[in-house]
Amino acid sequence: KKEQLQVLAEVDAVTKDGTQLNLAANISSVKELDMSLRSGAKGVGLFRTEFLYMDRHSFPSEEEQYEVYRRVVEKTGGNAVVIRTLDIGGDKQLDYFPLPEEDNPFLGYRAIRISLELKDLFRTQLTAILRASVHGKVKIMYPMISSLDEIREANQILNEAKANLSKRGISYDPNIEVGIMIEVPAAVVIADLLAKEVDFFSIGTNDLVQYVLAVDRMNEQIAHLYQPFHPSVLRLLRMTAEAAHAAGISVSVCGELAGDERAVPIWLALGIHNLSMSPQSLLRVKHRVLNTEAAEAVTVAKSCLTMSTGKEIEAELEKYKRNST
Ligand code: PEP
Ligand code: MG
Repeated sequence: KKEQLQVLAEVDAVTKDGTQLNLAANISSVKELDMSLRSGAKGVGLFRTEFLYMDRHSFPSEEEQYEVYRRVVEKTGGNAVVIRTLDIGGDKQLDYFPLPEEDNPFLGYRAIRISLELKDLFRTQLTAILRASVHGKVKIMYPMISSLDEIREANQILNEAKANLSKRGISYDPNIEVGIMIEVPAAVVIADLLAKEVDFFSIGTNDLVQYVLAVDRMNEQIAHLYQPFHPSVLRLLRMTAEAAHAAGISVSVCGELAGDERAVPIWLALGIHNLSMSPQSLLRVKHRVLNTEAAEAVTVAKSCLTMSTGKEIEAELEKYKRNST
């Protein structure tokens, strides 16, 4: 089965009736990039940079980061690489930088909140990303955004980093695209406002599901309540897609749900044509896309959007998948 799928690496992800999806990869290392490229990934939709900061004794320097980003960008060829700025806190810790003990780490000091506090650290990372942007198509993405102020503050530091590079005589892409993760429900609710200030949205369903359902994504005890197909999640996905389309910016999904082939009808119905997923999911999802008739799938997804429970929706998507394989 795995060998059979491998022949799809070179094939575009197009439905039977001609809708093309862009399947990119989530990576956290050059090794994962290599795996993804072997599976035909069209670019990197999420580069989790925190892994550059882990398993070491101090923060990585601008030069060290630049080397890694450049390698990733060059290997990816002409396709885009979305580099997400540091997303520590929550479940991810750094040995050399102990974060304060918190009662609710997922509601606490994490991601962009840390970057906006430790501005030098943030500026160093943004500088390294900017430097890599001359070697291919690079985009910057901020994690855990919940307000407009965070975007403006982050962009302020980005502008400082740009000015500094100009002063040093080092080139970068002056038009580098800047986007945000949509993974906090508040961001969905004000998606129309946020869309005016960024170039793209990328929906992080892992955190979005956790936050909207108030279900800790790491807690086994309540794992059965962690329902990516809960109607509230589908509504948030729809609101985000509609806000992006209305503003004319691009929207993608980079949470685990993008790698769930049962969700393909949902993306087609919502007009979300960019998906980013773990390398292991790429060929499986592509196989599903190739076996899907968009017109039919959209009808199924639209009926799912009227259903009242996650279980019903999941069952409907399961059934459609079985019948169209
Ligand atoms: C997400 O939250 O969906 C996401 C892609 O980010 P992470 O899993 O790294 O939190
Ligand atoms: Mg997340």
